[in-house]
This record gives sequence, C-alpha cells and structure tokens, in this order.
Amino acid sequence: MNAPTDDNTPAKPSNFLRGIIDRDLEQGTYASRRWAGSPGDAAHHEQGQPDPAKIRTRFPPEPNGYLHVGHAKSICLNFGLARDYGGVCHMRFDDTNPEKEEQEYVDAILDAVKWLGFGWGSNFNGQAQSHLYYASNYFDHMYRAAEYLIEAGLAYVDEQTPEEMRANRGDFSTPGKDSPFRSRTPQENLARFREMRDGQHPDGSMVLRAKIDMAAPNINMRDPAIYRIRRATHHNTGDKWCIYPMYTFAHPIEDALEQITHSICTLEFEDQRPFYDWLVDRLAEGGLLKQPTPRQHEFARLNLTYVITSKRKLKQLVDEKVVEGWDDPRMPTIVGLRRRGYTPEAIQLFCERIGVSKSDSWIDYSTLDIALRDDLEHKAHRGMAVLDPVKLVLSNWDEVMGAGHLEPCSLPALPHPPEGMPEPAHRAFTIGKEVWIEREDFEEVPPKGYKRLFPGNKVRLKGGYVIECTGCVKDAEGKVTEVLATVVPDTKSGTPGADSVKVKAAITWVGVADGVAAEVRLYDRLFTDAQPDAGGKDFLASLNPDSKKVVTAYVEPSLAQAQPDQKFQFERFGYFVADRKDHTSVKPVFNKITGLKDGNWAK
Ligand code: ATP
Ligand code: MG
Repeated sequence: MNAPTDDNTPAKPSNFLRGIIDRDLEQGTYASRRWAGSPGDAAHHEQGQPDPAKIRTRFPPEPNGYLHVGHAKSICLNFGLARDYGGVCHMRFDDTNPEKEEQEYVDAILDAVKWLGFGWGSNFNGQAQSHLYYASNYFDHMYRAAEYLIEAGLAYVDEQTPEEMRANRGDFSTPGKDSPFRSRTPQENLARFREMRDGQHPDGSMVLRAKIDMAAPNINMRDPAIYRIRRATHHNTGDKWCIYPMYTFAHPIEDALEQITHSICTLEFEDQRPFYDWLVDRLAEGGLLKQPTPRQHEFARLNLTYVITSKRKLKQLVDEKVVEGWDDPRMPTIVGLRRRGYTPEAIQLFCERIGVSKSDSWIDYSTLDIALRDDLEHKAHRGMAVLDPVKLVLSNWDEVMGAGHLEPCSLPALPHPPEGMPEPAHRAFTIGKEVWIEREDFEEVPPKGYKRLFPGNKVRLKGGYVIECTGCVKDAEGKVTEVLATVVPDTKSGTPGADSVKVKAAITWVGVADGVAAEVRLYDRLFTDAQPDAGGKDFLASLNPDSKKVVTAYVEPSLAQAQPDQKFQFERFGYFVADRKDHTSVKPVFNKITGLKDGNWAK
C-alpha cells in the first residue's frame, strides 16, 4: 500500500520504510500516544491530547560540522515521510558530546534544512508548534534514567582502565570477562556515580556501564558504557555537567521523550538496535519512558562516487585549506552544493530517485547532475557566453551596415517554457563590427569534418548573421589574435532572408560592444578516484589538481544583469549560476554547475 496522497499528487514509490509505517498505522501501534508539546519531562505524556501526528520522525544531526549530501538523503527521507503521512518530523540537535560542537554549526544546519525546503513547524487544529529540540535539554532526564538503572541493578560504575575494559570485552569469537567491579551493590554504584557527577574523580577514571551480558554474541550488549567523565564546556549547558551520556544511551532516550514513532538511521547502527530496544524497554518498565516506545529502522547510507560524505573528513579539507571553506562549490556540503548552483528541487528529486534500501551501494554522481538538468531545463534562462575568447572582425561591416552601426538582435530566454508559464521576454543584445567567438571555433586548416570557421566557409552567428571566414591575424608566435570574416547582408535570424544562405553550423558569440567581461569558475570533481576514501584509503592522495579553473569570459548583457544565485544555461556549455557571494552586474562571476551532457562524470 502506498502512502495516502492528495488527489492530484502522484503516489510516492513504495519502499520498505513506507511498508513498516503502513503496517504500524494499520495495527494502531502508536495510536495510544498522547502529546502535550514539551518533551523532556515524562509527565507531559499523561496530560496530553491524543497525538494528532500520525507518525513522528526526526532528523538528529550532531552539530559538529556542516551537513553534506548524505544528510540531504536523511532529511528528505525523514521530513518527506512526515509530510506524506500527515505526521511531524522533529529537528533535533544531538548535542551530547561537548567537545566538537559549536553554535556556528547549529545555525548552518538549520539554514540547510530550511533551504532544502523543509521546516519543523506543525499546525493541528490551528495550534502552531515548533519542533526544534536539543538533546542537551534532556540531560537531567538522562541522569535520572541512569540512576534508575543503577537502582534496578542494571548499571554499575566500572573502574577498570580503558585497556582492561577493551581486553575484557572479548571479540567475535571470545566471550567477554566480567569486570571485578560488576558485582558492586546498587548503593555502592549510586554513591560512586554521584561522586562522578560531583566532580570527585578525574576524567576517564571510571565509567557507568549498563549491566547486560558480557558473553552476549553482539558485542554492543557486553555492558556498554553509558556515562563518562569529561570536563568540557558544553555549548548549551555550559559547565553544569562534568559527566556526559554516551550517544548510544542518549539517542534512544531522546527519541522516546519526543515520542518518535519511527527512528530511522543508517545501517551502521543495526548492531546497536538490541541495546536501543533493551534501554527503552527497561526505562519504560521503570516508568521513566512511556509506552509505546519508538523503534529503530535502518537504511543504507548514501555513497556518491567522487564524493566524501563524512563531516570529519570534510572538516579536514576545510582546515587544511584544500578547499576555500565549507561552501566551496566543490564541496558536497549542502552550502557547497547551493553555492555551486544545485537547487533544492534537484536535490529532492535526486533523493527521491535513489530511494531507500537495506543494502549499501554506490550511486553514480551523474544521477545528481541528471536531476539538476531535469530541474533546470525548463527553468533556467539561456544566454551566450564565450569562455575562451578570440576577437572576430567583420571587415565589410562599416561598408554594408554603416560605420559603427550596432544591429539589435534577440533570442528566446526560454525556448520551451513549462506549461502554464507565460513565455519570458526575449534577451536583447547587439551585433557590430567586432564580436567575441570561441577560439576553438576557428581553424586555419580545418580537420576533416570541421564545420565551423575556416577560410572560405560560412557559418551563422547564432541569432545574428551568416558570415564568411576570410582568414586570420597571428602574432609572432603564430597564435591567432583575430579571426577575419565578412558579414553576408540580409541574413539576420528571424528575417525573410535568413534562409537564403545555407550553413552547416551556428556558433555562439558575444558582441564586443555590449558583452561584459566575467569571471567564470569552471569546476570539476574534487577527487580523481571514484571512491576516494573507501577501505580506509588516503583521500588526499587522489585530489584532482584541476578541480578549479578560472577563466575570463565574455557574457551577453542579460547574463551580466543576473541576480546572485540565478541559474542559466550557457548555450552549448551547460548550467551556470551567478555566484551568491561574489557576483555583481559590474563584475559578474559565474560558477559552472554541470555540463549539458554527462561528459565529465561518466565512467
Ligand atoms: P558524519 O559521519 O558525516 O559525521 P554522521 O552520521 O556522524 O555523519 P550525524 O550528524 O549524526 O552525522 O547525522 C545526522 C543524520 O544523518 C543521522 O541520522 C545519519 O544517519 C544521517 N546520515 C549521515 N550521513 C549519511 C549518509 N551518507 N547517507 C544517509 N544518511 C546519512
Ligand atoms: Mg557519525
């Protein structure tokens, strides 16, 4: 069964997560939940109304870096499911690790989610609510949960050294060994744990561990650590705590307090699921969490060829100045993709197309570019730019057109506007005696099959006139400095004479009189290896030395007038965006998003 959708929206393709949600809705698994709108305190479950949200999902980043394209998959999935099922997706910062977290990252993450087109507000019966949460607001509750486990004989303070703990954990083939501290009484453990909290023991000297089974086949169930001593200032709670919960302990509690129904994460957490269930079940038995507790479901993370999706490694690229910041257009961060010119619509489309599955695989980078082209093809205005300019002089211009004459020309801004959209005004530009053309569009001695400019051949200047090449001017080194041609009068595009002369090619150009010099940044993949960090490879070893090339180009006037962040199709070259930060109409700056076809990325 597919998710319910409005009459006019196509049903989303089914996937195993939708199957699980459909089943839970059919069976009423979460029908008894009550919602009072302030998680963090168990009491709110009782006072609340039946939860109007059919499902609750969450997107729980740790604010220790900027989000990347892998997170986009998780965002589209979690917010998308909530949207499609009439539920709510919580925006939650998993900020339980004080060392690496910063406000800058919090702000950037919120910005990225909004830009992708999602929000964390809900509105039920005219009641607006914001669902922005911080795990650190639950520290008190987590602490109480830990004391409860101690009192119930389900947790103990272990004073073994980290080395001893590691050695006694065993491995896949050897069961672990009980810690000598495992048999302490709850009273002893409680006293020790409070000493930990009160700062009476140095960092790392002891940990609180869940007491489960040192011989469990799943190593994650061999008494995992749940609290550690760490004197570090937290971006939210300051110096209030010197003990912090471990992620595996904190996360299920966060989910349960927020009454998440489906806690969706990547496959590497599959082995943690038994502990997730153990913890929420034990705490629910103890009355610290309410039934029904959330369940965890895993999906395959996004692996994209030529791309690194690890915040830590991306941070390394920034810190080591391999790139020019988190929003460098070569970065697979959401801010980088945005600056490069990828649209939220294209990224959403990409995420929809790749779907979700249970098995790890690599997605070809071209999938993202295809989504970008599909999004922009009918939206991005066209324009002409000359990226490798050489001057073309029409030697008979003054004579046949009038000295200094500039003839107005125009071409459609959007040849195929989407249905229902009025056709935008044509682009206007002029042609005169001198125009810029691509250096590669002239050959003194044409190779076989060459149809563009060579002495004696005629081509059309797109949207302008037919011209006939007569030769060129070269410098002392033999480099062509000017191409020479004559204009064929009465052949202007759109006039009755346009078809009087047949040509085999139309070339792009920009007038010298009204063209504007622009900085164009030509980007290519950041790595030459399709799987730059797979299997522990040193990704810095496969950096592409040619990932950024800057050229001075000439662009037609309509392009110079672009708004920052406006996307265009440069005829024949592909999609470009006016740089969000650096572009002005006086000094235009464009980034290449991707080519028209899959030249670059195809294997
Ligand atoms: P990183 O390793 O890059 O730091 P992370 O998983 O540690 O990523 P979190 O901030 O914990 O970063 O991630 C938030 C959410 O995004 C998690 O639920 C995580 O499963 C998901 N996520 C992270 N990377 C990917 C990916 N490549 N594909 C899909 N989801 C991802
Ligand atoms: Mg991680």
